[in-house]
Amino acid sequence: MNNIDSDFSLVDLEKKILTLCQSHPKGLTDSILQDEMPNVNVEQRVSALNRLLSAGNLDLFKSDSQLIYKLKDPDLVSKNAICENTQEKLVYQVIGDAGNKGIWSRDIRLKCNLQMTQLNKILRNLESKKLIKAVKSVTASKKKLYMLFNLDPDISVTGGAWYSDQDFESEFVEVLNQQCYRCLVQKVEESLNLCVNQPRISLNNSFASSEEVWKIITNLKISKVTLTVTDIETILNTLIYDGKAEMKIESDPDGQEFKLYRAVKPIIDASGLEKTPCGICPVIDQCYENGAISPATCIYMKEWLES
Ligand code: SF4
Repeated sequence: MNNIDSDFSLVDLEKKILTLCQSHPKGLTDSILQDEMPNVNVEQRVSALNRLLSAGNLDLFKSDSQLIYKLKDPDLVSKNAICENTQEKLVYQVIGDAGNKGIWSRDIRLKCNLQMTQLNKILRNLESKKLIKAVKSVTASKKKLYMLFNLDPDISVTGGAWYSDQDFESEFVEVLNQQCYRCLVQKVEESLNLCVNQPRISLNNSFASSEEVWKIITNLKISKVTLTVTDIETILNTLIYDGKAEMKIESDPDGQEFKLYRAVKPIIDASGLEKTPCGICPVIDQCYENGAISPATCIYMKEWLES
């Protein structure tokens, strides 16, 4: 194989590796790759392998201190008889380079210097071969982002656990918020009952780790999506912003830090002006009239004005 010297040839190199994988069902080692492609330098080979791995086309194993690359989907090579012309190859490569954050069709058009009608045809072709897919982003639901078919969209595209079909699941977040708060209140009540007349111990026991709350919420099976400890920490943080919880960070004997949360009640009822939500608002810098975050649409401001 000739040395890879143009932007398009990376796709050819990927195809060559996929074909080699098919003829070596036990997997490819670096030495096989080197023997089969003597004119391809290590850098080009690693770059093509990395792209195939991150696109989910290959699996990587280790055996006898050797790396072994295997095809994930045996039909991939026939699917990959994809880019029959240079323009398709270029579009496929530009989409592949965008990774799981995807790329807008307008940006593909600019990078590939294609007419919109030409590009639409290529995108339809690649989509029908299941090489790429169109994904809606939470930031602009009317525009389509394109990414390689096997990739799972990045959280910045899907919005994570709080979004379903690009819509913010406010009801789901509210239920989680209430359940997390209930967990923390229960922990405080349990520690008060267990440690009567031992205020210091009772206080220490009244904290729950985010992992503890995560386990309880997971066991309640109220979520259709798999929640992570970080997702639960996001909810617990909203309790802190609402003044319903406090948090401290501690370290285990290995020096690993973990977060502990506790339900709190205000000791004295604050005066009306002190209760202004803006004082502890984490997004105050982004809040302005007619902005995405604004006092006119802020539920905390509305509640305060009505209280
Ligand atoms: S109006 Fe609402 S969003 Fe804006 S700073 Fe105040 S609390 Fe935050």
